[in-house]
Amino acid sequence: MMMNSFNPATDALLGKFPIHDAQAIDSRLRVASASQKTWARLDVRQRLPYLLQVAAVLRRKKQELALLITLEMGKPLSESLGEIEKCAWNFDHYAQQGETFLADQVVASSAADSRIVFDPLGLVLAVMPWNYPFWQVMRAAAPVLVGGNGMVLKHASNVPQCALALEQVFKDAGLPEGLFTTLLVESSAVQGLIQDDRIAAVTFTGSTPVGRSIAAQAGQALKKQVLELGGSDPFVVLADADIEAAAAVAVKARFSNTGQSCISAKRFIVERSIADRFAEAFVAGTRKLVVGDPLQANTTIGSMARGKLRDELHVQVRASVREGAQVLIGGQPVEGPGAYYEPTILDHVTPGMTVAMEETFGPAAAILRVASADEAIAVANDTPFGLGASLWSRDLDRARQLSRRIEAGAVFVNGLVASDPRLSFGGTKQSGYGRELGHLGLHEFMNIKTVWTGPARI
Ligand code: NAP
Repeated sequence: MMMNSFNPATDALLGKFPIHDAQAIDSRLRVASASQKTWARLDVRQRLPYLLQVAAVLRRKKQELALLITLEMGKPLSESLGEIEKCAWNFDHYAQQGETFLADQVVASSAADSRIVFDPLGLVLAVMPWNYPFWQVMRAAAPVLVGGNGMVLKHASNVPQCALALEQVFKDAGLPEGLFTTLLVESSAVQGLIQDDRIAAVTFTGSTPVGRSIAAQAGQALKKQVLELGGSDPFVVLADADIEAAAAVAVKARFSNTGQSCISAKRFIVERSIADRFAEAFVAGTRKLVVGDPLQANTTIGSMARGKLRDELHVQVRASVREGAQVLIGGQPVEGPGAYYEPTILDHVTPGMTVAMEETFGPAAAILRVASADEAIAVANDTPFGLGASLWSRDLDRARQLSRRIEAGAVFVNGLVASDPRLSFGGTKQSGYGRELGHLGLHEFMNIKTVWTGPARI
């Protein structure tokens, strides 16, 4: 059996790669498991140079790896280059902070020495999506590895070349064989992997329905899990906001990565008194986007990753228009080869319309007009999701207070929601649970162990 690699921008077949059968999976897991046990015994300071090596390899191979990303999932090459650089930054970050994050926490007590220590769990299975084929994997891998764990990757089936290239990065960096292992398998193999005794924990990034199923399987096997799921992030613009700045960032927030990001702003919730001005500036910025060949330097919107995703987005846009939304710009698939979709803004969207209720995973924005800040917060929270949120106001104290009422894993006031190795990342409600990045992301896959040492007594 083979896994096909297609270029979604041209529909060309790029290559076919053999799927790992049961025997290959078993022997790869055996190697991974043995490597992890040796790696776990190293002092954290001995692991840090390997992380720096991974960062160096990523930077050295940046052009080649970025090209693979663009060829397999269609995003503009400039964004792919930025993605590889960010992965390198994440490895640098954990190399610099790993020792501090993993230091014993000594708890004051009388005669005894009481401390909390962090031990590795073992092999972490990573089931990952295609939208940032390197970043999603590498943001999870750096903390997992610095903590003494190993990683087994089941990547999305439309990015097999990225999946294999990731494994090669770790080989090039000189990490023990198999400590990072890619399994080229279909999703039907995941359940067996979760049950395998050599897998200690699971990290999943992807859609909410699949997350629910993986959570059930990991729960049944009593294995720790982190779930990074879908989102419908609000972008709240209050009447006292800097409208020009908000609109300029709105274009990036909705359309970078061709709109295929879990933390893309999807619902633009704007106070009515400034809604016309915001909509006009948002449309003007969107009109400047360049849709086209993702390999061209001036392209800002590439092909969506699969034709099916483009069709699903169009169904959501059409349904919302039938429900009363007004198209300000775009609204149609682009004719010809590839999975291109026009950058789209729908105005006069109301809660309950399709684009307000469902996650839109592509270049389509929804503007919802509200009467007050209180209504804006209520509408922002009127979603099953809770990943990120952006809030725009010149009154920073009030904005900070309002941010506490938004049900999300992150709120960025007057800024673009972004993942950052130094900050924690994750969701609430149906956007998942657990955290990645920062020290909290590292501790997710550690055995947080209490060690009490005192003089013997009866
Ligand atoms: P997806 O369909 O859930 O796939 C994600 C991964 O799960 C892929 O490796 C996929 O493999 C695998 N998978 C699919 N069905 C499975 C099953 N029944 N059992 C086990 N594994 C299964 O998601 P997607 O469409 O690729 O990605 C887009 C979604 O991911 C969006 O909802 C987006 O919001 C979310 N996302 C969330 C974050 C975050 O950090 N919160 C980040 C990025 C994306 P195959 O490719 O082989 O099907």
